[in-house]
Amino acid sequence: MPQNSELMARKEAALASGLAVKNIFTAKAEGSELWDVEGRRYIDFAAGIAVVNTGHRHPKVMAAVADQAENFTHTCFHVAPYESYIRLGERLNKLTPGDAPKKTMLTSVGVEAIENSIKLARAFTGRSGIISFYGGFHGRTLMGMALTGRQAPYKKGFGPMPPEIFYAPFPNDYHGVSSRHALDEIRRMFESTIDPARVAAFILEPVQGEGGFVIAPKEFLEGLRELANEHGILLISDEVQAGMGRTGKMFGIEHSGVVPDIIAMAKGLAGGFPLSAITGRADVMDSANPASLGGTYGGNPLAVAAANAVLDVIEEENLFESANRIGELLQKRLKSLAARQGMEAIGDVRGLGAMVAFELVTERQTRNPDPALTTRIIAEAQSRGLILLSCGVRGNVIRLLPPLTTSNDIVNEALDIIEASVESAIAKLA
Ligand code: PLP
Repeated sequence: MPQNSELMARKEAALASGLAVKNIFTAKAEGSELWDVEGRRYIDFAAGIAVVNTGHRHPKVMAAVADQAENFTHTCFHVAPYESYIRLGERLNKLTPGDAPKKTMLTSVGVEAIENSIKLARAFTGRSGIISFYGGFHGRTLMGMALTGRQAPYKKGFGPMPPEIFYAPFPNDYHGVSSRHALDEIRRMFESTIDPARVAAFILEPVQGEGGFVIAPKEFLEGLRELANEHGILLISDEVQAGMGRTGKMFGIEHSGVVPDIIAMAKGLAGGFPLSAITGRADVMDSANPASLGGTYGGNPLAVAAANAVLDVIEEENLFESANRIGELLQKRLKSLAARQGMEAIGDVRGLGAMVAFELVTERQTRNPDPALTTRIIAEAQSRGLILLSCGVRGNVIRLLPPLTTSNDIVNEALDIIEASVESAIAKLA
């Protein structure tokens, strides 16, 4: 087997440099663990960025895919459709919040679900304006980038962006942005920047993922829903990262009781196979012209088989409860670590279910970001066998995204590594 360093050199020589990678070249992954080509074992607290919520290679998911592969692997749903796609649509229509009749379409990756949500919102309302939020992340296509409320690294150098996208502040308790302020800013925007009668949709993540695991407060989501109702604007919940049980409910927005018009989902939906979905109000989903939606690979049969199995596993193994169990373990230990003397760099610990993060600051009072310490902690954790990811507009948040099937023993092992890594990183940077 080649070494990580050899593969990194080949990667750098052969692949576009804009593709950033960690130097952990994978040989095998199972459950919550991953082994690199040098035989090193890691606990995987990235889960492919919130994708393998059911763990790597869940037996039920693998069996469903293998079964499907025995029959057919691709026909294109538009050419020779299949029942499993319809069944998944029926299930998602039931699982998404809200009593109004709903419909679904399947696509391949997260950003494609976002693109189609925008197409549908515009088709339904006949309006062009879209309001997204500072710090939000919605993907890397032109529209995904345009909706993303953050310049570097996602948008810089790739302009011009598509027009008619407007940005509003996202509430952030820790940094003093209240729900009331955020809602007032939208009202101000309606007076100064865009006529609400031209706005098709608000799009937001119920918990900002790349933006730093910032949780949208219930009162903010309720206020947004009211503004949407008042002006005939649709509400799109981007659940690509927060969805599929990650937060302890199927969808992050369910914690607020607010019902969106469209939900975009991906990542955890198919346990490691590329699949995304848009489920929304039937009248909205039916607003596009015939043949204007879809694509060659949308709803690939292998990925659909995986998704139907993932939905079974979430229910059978009660992964909502697991998400809450894991989240409680993580928050409790991290909060007691933050309370220890010498740990003032941990400014905040927050989370919803098993979507947990801690924010690193130079001083608790100023709450100034400490991205250098963040990078150091992640490197220390990697050297001890734990895969962690950063996030946050200022790169100073560490997010924990374990598979929802992770045992308490592995969660505690990872927490031991986090404690040791934080201590060591603080000592080295002191
Ligand atoms: N929306 C959110 C909230 C995401 O976190 C992501 C990816 O991280 C996307 C959209 C884009 O998904 P994909 O990378 O599958 O296109």
